[in-house]
This record gives sequence, C-alpha cells and structure tokens, in this order.
Amino acid sequence: MGMLPKSYEGQDCSLARALEVVGERWTLLVLRDAFYGVRRFTDFQVHLGVPRAVLTERLRTLVVYGLLTRQPDREQPARHQYTLTDKGWDLWPALHALRSWGEQHVPASNGPRRLFVHAICGADIDATSSCARCHRQVSPEEVLAAPGPGLNPEVSQDPVSAALQEPHRLGQPLAVAPTRPPTERTALADAVMGHAG
Ligand SMILES: [Zn+2]
Repeated sequence: MGMLPKSYEGQDCSLARALEVVGERWTLLVLRDAFYGVRRFTDFQVHLGVPRAVLTERLRTLVVYGLLTRQPDREQPARHQYTLTDKGWDLWPALHALRSWGEQHVPASNGPRRLFVHAICGADIDATSSCARCHRQVSPEEVLAAPGPGLNPEVSQDPVSAALQEPHRLGQPLAVAPTRPPTERTALADAVMGHAG
C-alpha cells in the first residue's frame, strides 16, 4: 500500500484546508468530547481510549490552530484544562451534521448512544441543528446531550461515560469523578471478579 501524502498540498480548497486542521484520526472525537464538557487530558484519555502520545498530538494541533485553549488547571496544579474557543464552537453544526449522517447511513443496531435536544423546549435537534418545535437554528450552548437508546452503561464504565448518563448542556464543564489509581482499580476489579466468581 502506497504512503498517503502528509498534506493536501496543491488542493486550493477550503475543505482541504479544514481537513488539515480536523481531518486526522481522533480529532473530531476529541472535539466531540470537548463539546460534552471534557476538559482534562486524563478524562479525554479514559473516554476515548486513545494512546497518550496521539492524544497529546491531537490536542496540541487543536491548540495551535486555535480551536481549543490550554490553561493551567486551578484544581490540579501542573495540569491543564482544554476549553473550546469560538473557532472551536463554530464546528458544532458540521460535527452534528456528520453525526446525524452516521446515524442515518451507518446506524448502530440499538439506536444512537446520544440524543440531542433543545434545552429550552425539549424537542429534538435535526441534522441541520434546527429545533423541530421552535423552527429555528439552535446554537450549541442551547443543546442538551442526553443518553440515547444505544447507550449501554455496562459497556462504557469510565468516569466520563458515567457522568454523561445524565443529560448535559454542551460546553458546560462535565463533573467527572477522579480516576482511581490503577493499583486501587485492579484491587477493586479483583474483588468484583472474586465476588462474581
Ligand atoms: Zn426548541
């Protein structure tokens, strides 16, 4: 298999330029999580299960292009929080439209894991980010992400998935329980396994 060129050099097209920013594997999922209110490296990592080096690189790219800001974490000195900028927020309609396309053309058997509703009236947001009831375009700040029929809490047990089992307003920081140190988690898993077995 031939190597793909690293960039879309020679493609003088806005889509190609946009893909230079968000077209790498994981990038749109990192942004999706940022819309869900994930802000800490560890939380992105446990939710996405992406290798740390890849996540570091994707976050760095998003900061360099100005879609996320990286600021010191007040609660955890020496760590950082990543927050969407206006430039990042502007990707919501495209991200949501792509998600909706996936739901229509490559659907999950149990239905969508997440539903998106207008926080003010409770009606569904369509693929163009319009509210069916209010008949207008809804900005992401007005959108609630709620658990859908395809969400299986048995499968996703990380702290971010747990926090997202409650409806959550996009962009608002997600209250994620601190990840337990691996030793403690292993001990707990052993205890659970022992109990079950
Ligand atoms: Zn509405």
